[in-house]
Parts: sequence; structure tokens; C-alpha cells
Amino acid sequence: DARPNSPEARDISYHLHGYTNARKHEEAGPLVIEKGDGIYVEDLAGNRYIEAMAGLWSVAVGFSEKRLVDAAVRQMSKLPYYHDFGSKSHSPLIDLAEKLVQMAPVSMSKAYFTNSGSEANDTAMKMIWYRSNALGQPARKKIISRNRGYHGVTIAAASLTGLPNNHISFDLPIANVLHTSTPHHWREALPGESEKQFSSRLADDLEKLILAEGPETIAAFFGEPIMGAGGVIVPPAGYWEKIQAVLSKYDILLVADEVICGFGRTGEMFGSQTFGIRPDIMVLSKQISSSYLPISALLINEKMFEPIADESNRIGTFGHGFTGGGHPVAAAVAFENLKLIEERDLVGNARTVGAHLQKRLRNLASHPLVGEVRGVGLIAAVELVGDQASKAPWETAGALGGLVNGFMQQNGVISRNMGDALAFCPPLIITEPQVDQVVDAFERSLEAAVKQVGPET
Ligand code: PMP
Repeated sequence: DARPNSPEARDISYHLHGYTNARKHEEAGPLVIEKGDGIYVEDLAGNRYIEAMAGLWSVAVGFSEKRLVDAAVRQMSKLPYYHDFGSKSHSPLIDLAEKLVQMAPVSMSKAYFTNSGSEANDTAMKMIWYRSNALGQPARKKIISRNRGYHGVTIAAASLTGLPNNHISFDLPIANVLHTSTPHHWREALPGESEKQFSSRLADDLEKLILAEGPETIAAFFGEPIMGAGGVIVPPAGYWEKIQAVLSKYDILLVADEVICGFGRTGEMFGSQTFGIRPDIMVLSKQISSSYLPISALLINEKMFEPIADESNRIGTFGHGFTGGGHPVAAAVAFENLKLIEERDLVGNARTVGAHLQKRLRNLASHPLVGEVRGVGLIAAVELVGDQASKAPWETAGALGGLVNGFMQQNGVISRNMGDALAFCPPLIITEPQVDQVVDAFERSLEAAVKQVGPET
């Protein structure tokens, strides 16, 4: 209980949180997580939870991986800090760059290091603008992303994001960022429209937008293989193939934001493999280091690299970099983390245990509060509704999600409420019996919610 003198009370006094109502937070207090162990975390009162969101879609190897701690200590003792500005570098970063380029599912030339997913997307946008200038196409600056996409919170990344919460009150998006349709077949398809037809319609929407703006002004398209924070929206059949056909027709670059999907989440090493995406830039973060330390990276192909390399003397060097970009301790941890993902075949685990998660969740499809169950591998969401037939959201959908999510916590599982959908994204080390515990807790939480509110009809 976060009353005076309790440790939570310190949080209420001094710690401002994003994504919460600050006044309400002062009344309710935070859940203070104190320890981690495998897929579990423990709060100050000693309650244990299965962290079925891997923190923020992040911790592939679990919360107590000694090899990552050892890698950090080794590097911290040897060279705790250096940078990669100008002609400087350090071994952890050279090793990590080589590993990432080798792991890439399509041919990539270079890695560029940043500290967060937002910074990486921001950097991608600047690189794309720089490239247009280097190619003598200064008008080619517009970027298209999607409604309900999530790309971060810096001014540029929040602009790419397509969620009202990240725009309203911040006067965003900035100029040159445009949004196209969300590939949410279950909610947005016309009556009788197949997934393939829906995908074709969305590709047409994209082409119309490009033609209306002028193809010579469009530089790039940003998309997550599966939309994460926007509601775990899995692209319908044919979607990426049709979108890529439009992009190639107008020579528009494709950026795959792999911040959530990357490093095994979908049961392949990258979401791009799962959906046949052939990006020019891949944006990587989170599971790159299991978020033990913040680090992110861009992989760029030759088409991106060449103009930067060739023109950097004529139009000015690529004047961009962060003090902590590619931090040696974070890079050493990331390198060890990637080795662990490979050695322990966590991608294979995401595929097999993920199939079990998907099957168990889909068994709940007929529950009166369940609209759609969706997901691939170890990422899933269950969209809650007030009425299954009309798909009408619960009148107070946020409250329903919050209610079920609250029961989940009481049942010892941390999930995520995304307004009308509950998300699951557990560490990649999770086992089938542990998945059963998560889904059993979800069933109990749905029952508790039904008891409290009943189906709306
Ligand atoms: N892209 C995607 C797909 C993400 O899910 C996130 C974070 N949830 C980001 C970018 C931004 O990353 P960060 O919070 O590290 O800035």
C-alpha cells in the first residue's frame, strides 16, 4: 500500500510518469518492481508475477541472465565508455556491427548505432532526407507511415507514430509525415471482403496518397511487420507483398521497424522474414540487448549507404551521432544476448511455444467478451468487445481492458491493456506449462470481468 512512509510514497512524491493520469497516480501509487528472475518479477511486497509483456516487449532471455551481467561487468571494467564519432570505434561495437549485418535476412551493408527505438527512427528519417539531398532530389522528403503504427516519441518518431495520444497536445505530426490505412482486417474490412481483397484496397489507398502528393516528393514508407503498441495488428494475407509492389513502382524506400518483432518474437529471427518484407533500412532495439541496457541500431543497404559515402564530402558529412550511441557496455551485452538467442534456439522456442500460446488463446474466441484473437509466435492480443456479433467495442472499452488487466495482475500475471485489446509478449524463454499459467489466469480474469459487468447484450 502506497501510504506515507512506504517505499511507494517516495515515487508519488518525486517521480513523474508518462502514460498515466498524474493526479490519479498520486492516489493509487505505482506497482514497484524490485527483482527479476527468469520470466518472473517480484514487487516490494514480495508478490511474484509472470511478466507476460517481457517488460516493454523487450526481455528475450528473462530477467536474471548471468551471462549478460558478466558481459556488462567485463566491459565496464575494461573500457566503460567510448564513442564512435568520426574515425573512432571500439571492439564491442565492431563485433556487434558484424554480427547484425550477418544476421540480416536481406543484404545489408552497414550498422549505425543509437540508444533507443525512437532515436533510431529519428535517425532513419534524417538519413533518408540526407540521401535525397545527396542524390540532388531535395523535394523528396515526405514519409508515409500508418495509422496505429508506433515508432516512438521524439518529435520525428512521434510524428511517424499514428496514435492520437502521441499527437494531440503536442502539435504533431510535423510537416512531411503522412499516414495511411491500418491493416486491421477484422475491424476495418468491408462486409465479405477477404484478407487479400482488403490488402489490395489498402495498397490502392497507398498508391492514391502517393499520386495525390506527387511520387517525386515521397521518400520512404515506415512500418512495423506486426503493429505492436497500436494493438498487435497482424497484417492480412498479401498485405506486405502488395504494399511493396506499390513502393517499388515509385522507387520509395522501405523502413522495417523491427523494434518489437526483431530477434525471434515472431518465430523467425526477424518479422521481415515472417512476412516477406525486403527493407532498405531495418530499425532494431529492445530484444537486441534484452533491454538490459539501452541500445538500438539501424541496418542500411547499399542503396542507402552509397549516396552517403559518395556525397559526404560534397554536401557535408553525415553530421549526426549521440554521445552514448553504441555504448561499449550496452554493445557487449547486446552481442552476448544475440549469442544466447542463437545458442538456446529461442527463435525455435518462440515458434513452438508460441504456437501453443496462439492455440490456447484462440480456444477463447467464443467467450462473450472476446472479439478477435490474433498474433504470431510469442506476440498476441485479444480484442475485447461488448457485443460479438456487431463487434461493437464495450461502451467503455478502456475500462473493460483495464478491468481485465487489473484481474490479471491480481492473478499474478502482467499483461498490457491497449484500450480494447489485451497484449501478451512474454520472454522468449517461456515454456508451455508457463504459457498455460498465463492463459489460465486470463480465463479467470475474463470470468471475473463477466461477473462484474456481464456481457453487454
Ligand atoms: N518502434 C517500435 C515498433 C516500438 O514498439 C517502440 C517502443 N515501444 C519504439 C519504436 C520506440 O522505442 P523507444 O521506446 O526505445 O524509444
